[in-house]
Amino acid sequence: MDKNDKLRRNSHRISRRRFIEGSLAVLAGTGLAGYKGLFASDVPSRYKELRIREYHTLGRTGFKVSDIGFGSGELTEPALLEAVLDAGINYIDTAENYRRGRVERTIGTAIKNRSRKAIFITTKLVLRKNETKKDVLDRAYKCLERLQTEYIDCLMIHKPSTVEQTKHDGFHAAIRELKAAGKVRFCGLSNHGSQWQEEPETMEKVLLAAAEDGRFDVMLFVYNFLQREMGERILTACKEKNIGATLMKTNPVLNYLETQEMIERAEKEGRQPSEYLKRLIPRLKERADKAEAFKKKYNLANYEEVRDAAVKFVLSHPDVHSACLTIKNYSDLEAYVSLSGTKFDSVERKRLSAYKEIFGDFYCRHACGICESKCPHRVPVNTVMRYNHYFKSQGREKTAVLKYASLETNRADFCMDCAGYCEKACPYGVPVQSLLVLAHQTLTLA
Ligand code: SF4
Ligand code: SF4
Repeated sequence: MDKNDKLRRNSHRISRRRFIEGSLAVLAGTGLAGYKGLFASDVPSRYKELRIREYHTLGRTGFKVSDIGFGSGELTEPALLEAVLDAGINYIDTAENYRRGRVERTIGTAIKNRSRKAIFITTKLVLRKNETKKDVLDRAYKCLERLQTEYIDCLMIHKPSTVEQTKHDGFHAAIRELKAAGKVRFCGLSNHGSQWQEEPETMEKVLLAAAEDGRFDVMLFVYNFLQREMGERILTACKEKNIGATLMKTNPVLNYLETQEMIERAEKEGRQPSEYLKRLIPRLKERADKAEAFKKKYNLANYEEVRDAAVKFVLSHPDVHSACLTIKNYSDLEAYVSLSGTKFDSVERKRLSAYKEIFGDFYCRHACGICESKCPHRVPVNTVMRYNHYFKSQGREKTAVLKYASLETNRADFCMDCAGYCEKACPYGVPVQSLLVLAHQTLTLA
């Protein structure tokens, strides 16, 4: 079976699973999660009453953005974005490559009859090394066409892995021309760590250099309660240079209710005993017991209560302008808009501290990559674990499987027969070899 057959097969399996889950959600009356083909006029009134309560000035752009931003990676229906805009979310983050331009087209359909001045749209380009000014201009004009708009508020370099990539001559020459023509207002960049396609540099190194460079007006990066240090330093630099600070990966919470499922999978696999699973199963069992105790102590009905505390944690930071959250459906919209303007309280602080103590070493820090240079096979540890996070914690199963199948580097199948050099190098004690093996199973639907 070639790579494309595998992609199609996995995509079909995911679609079927999503369909069943979506149908169950509707039957159970839990909202509109997974619902497709909804028209704006069909949106129930409770979603129409949602309102953003806080706006912040996005650095030197001067634009007042909603504290909750819209991460559009899973957008398929204009009606969902219309509901998002009606709720007062006005920061829209997208990219040229999200669903191969289809997300930009959907945004274009949703915004074409609205006041353009009330919305801030950021789109992003993954740059190739030898691209010229003309190449970048062509791509930017295609974004404008798909978005059906006269201008893009911010055009970003999408996830540059090195400082060198942030200085891309073709991009900066194109930005000058686009700004002069009134087609782009500001310039920015995003970063969530490297993909190990070339010698990587940390998110912090890339973004601090970009802040010094002076040409970037807005940044999108990782900051959450388990991955704080790099993000804190970048937030400080953004404040000093008056750069707009927007965040991603704000929720690092593993759905702890899945610990039991992980045990079952590991035990099944453990019928052919292997060292990495023998080591993991006792740790998982201990975690499952602690998860039960944690739920009881904090009277938690579901994992979303921890997720909400994680989002409030970043919203409470005075230098954060907008947290871009992936809103896949109306249930997400309701959950996230309800958090707008809320602040982290002492009960939530205790919950997150307890969570960190119990589960903190199961979280492969987004944008980290410290251990990757130790891997003899150059497996992009952090990227694989990020895709696993999309699948397990963000409910973006299809996206995660497709991204994993398209990796241009080695995948985690190498991890089964390895001495675990990455795990020994991890300063956070993440049992990452076993987690990589489980992630490989998840992401290949094995
Ligand atoms: S396993 Fe540890 S060192 Fe490696 S990327 Fe994850 S958090 Fe960083
Ligand atoms: S387990 Fe081995 S092969 Fe897998 S990422 Fe770690 S060092 Fe590389």
